[in-house]
Amino acid sequence: MYFANSSYEDSRYVIFGAPFDSTCTFRKGTRYGPSGIREASHNFESFMLEYELDLLDIDICDYGDLDVTHLSPSEMVERINGFSKRLVADGKFPLLLGGEHSVSPGCAVAFDDVTVLGIDAHADFYDDFDDDRNNHACAMRRIADKFGKDRVMWIGIRQMGRAEYEAAPKVINSFKIFENGIDWTISEIEKMVGNGRLYISLDIDGIDPAYAPGTGTPVPFGLRPIDVKRIIDHFASRLVGFDIVEVSPPLDNGVTAVLAANILMEVIAAVHLRASEEKKG
Ligand code: MN
Ligand code: MN
Repeated sequence: MYFANSSYEDSRYVIFGAPFDSTCTFRKGTRYGPSGIREASHNFESFMLEYELDLLDIDICDYGDLDVTHLSPSEMVERINGFSKRLVADGKFPLLLGGEHSVSPGCAVAFDDVTVLGIDAHADFYDDFDDDRNNHACAMRRIADKFGKDRVMWIGIRQMGRAEYEAAPKVINSFKIFENGIDWTISEIEKMVGNGRLYISLDIDGIDPAYAPGTGTPVPFGLRPIDVKRIIDHFASRLVGFDIVEVSPPLDNGVTAVLAANILMEVIAAVHLRASEEKKG
């Protein structure tokens, strides 16, 4: 990422890619997500207008990609988890670029105690899928295995199997968000997060395919990018980790990777600003 030039040692924010897409059920291509998002970042100034800060003034490390493309799903999760645990132990803020959604559990469960917010068109709550418990349709289930169902929440969902629906109670579907508004949605998330630490896993298909068409399993009636930004801004002071997954450059007209790159930049700017405000007291 062009604005991430600092060493691992010097940086609080560490970007890393997981180019893995072999469990994708419909259309592959997310292995090109990390490189597509990096390339798309050149579209943007490093000066973040809203926050009045320059990403080039923040110590950010782009660690590159983990070598996971040809691993089995369970080896891939283990590799990502090993690296993520190191980040957590070193006090870093992990920013993981997928890859398909099956990369997320490796990072999220590296934390001991967080609430996890999934933004997704799909619940990804199958216990197994195609005989694989690490399929991307099981991602949130694996995260809930660690933190418990009451520490995991999904928003923007509009596709769920009946078995998932019956197993996963904490879902705010997309239709409810449009009916009640984003402020209501934030207050619902707030009830669960409280003063705790939050990890956000953003499946780009949570956002409407009009804004994010370059993804393997697009679903209509999705969130607007500005809604996702409002949520990130609101929870920035409690955010400890973030991933963005399911961006598929081969299926993209360009705007999906651009959106993902900009969201990543917003996350860093928002978290950094809130952290420095807290230091000032
Ligand atoms: Mn997903
Ligand atoms: Mn999805």
